[in-house]
Amino acid sequence: MDFVFSFINKAYLCNQILNTFCMETPNWSELSFGYMPTDYNIRCAYRNGKWGTLEITSDTTIPMHVAATSLHYGQEAFEGLKAFMGKDGKIRIFRPDENAKRLQSTCDGIMMPKMSTELFLEAVVKAVTLNKRFVPPYGSGASLYIRPLLIGTSPQVGVKPADEYLFLIFVMPVGPYFKEGFKPTPMVILRQYDRAAPLGTGTYKVGGNYAASLVAGEKAHAMGYSAVLYLDAKEKKYVDECGPANFFGIKNNTYITPESTSILPSITNKSLMQLARDMGMKVEQRRVPVEELSTFEEAGACGTAAVISPIIRIDDIVENISYQFSKNGEAGPVCTRLYEKLRAIQNGDEPDVHGWNVVID
Ligand SMILES: *Cc1c(COP(=O)(O)O)cnc(C)c1O
Repeated sequence: MDFVFSFINKAYLCNQILNTFCMETPNWSELSFGYMPTDYNIRCAYRNGKWGTLEITSDTTIPMHVAATSLHYGQEAFEGLKAFMGKDGKIRIFRPDENAKRLQSTCDGIMMPKMSTELFLEAVVKAVTLNKRFVPPYGSGASLYIRPLLIGTSPQVGVKPADEYLFLIFVMPVGPYFKEGFKPTPMVILRQYDRAAPLGTGTYKVGGNYAASLVAGEKAHAMGYSAVLYLDAKEKKYVDECGPANFFGIKNNTYITPESTSILPSITNKSLMQLARDMGMKVEQRRVPVEELSTFEEAGACGTAAVISPIIRIDDIVENISYQFSKNGEAGPVCTRLYEKLRAIQNGDEPDVHGWNVVID
């Protein structure tokens, strides 16, 4: 009896010690956007033409076949979304159903099996719930980033889709994007680089698009810019994607965002378009000629990581033209209002009239 008690006690203590020394919850105010281990990740395998059950693990590695299609032919897709702790102690996940749909579209794009929206949502909720102690507190400005991943795992050396796939989700707490306040940054047009071709994979969230953007991105960072503003790859006449984010401009009470066959449909952009309409603005999704940049009162990049990154200036290096959006170094009034509105909905501070949040009690 004594032995059993001391054994249980020891096991409990070991776990406590592990939690305290190995996986302490982070200092919320010091978080950046970087990988950090949490308690569990969720996995689900696709075999024999169907998805299996959700599995929970603490293992952060994957055993892989050396000839897996994800390693050789880029059968890899990912998603990115966030969960927020509200003042009411409830966790809100922002529009996960949209991520499920976008992943399905990516699957069609690179011949991977689709997962149902229900199974995707179940996996997201499970990943968040099991790692609840890593959801940063309300008011910290930090949030829990959720990263779903889907890869081809079975061997194939001929160029063909895999027969077997692995879906997984890990999560990590991330800091507020704007540590020194909501400040605009400069971006650059580098005409010698493209990110994605007009009828290529730009509309899908695949790692290959990111590999294709690394050289230009590093070059931009080295020159002091926060991102590359890509032009359309075919004619170099129209504004396309803004690094890993969508571009938008504001003028005459209108929210304008490029329409293109190489832009990833951002869920943040979709949400901002709705909020702009709600605020009585006009919304235009159309081709945006690069010269039109000179007419915008405000401009920004949008995506899950930052919501909005306001743009101070865009330099078109080759053409030696500079487009200025902020004269005093501050974000414009429309960008600020949209940013604050979306953040308030995500944090549960304002009514979620469009039913965007999935709330976990
Ligand atoms: C993920 C991503 C975005 C932003 O999409 P959100 O759903 O708003 O996070 C924009 N552009 C690219 C290329 C992306 O991969």
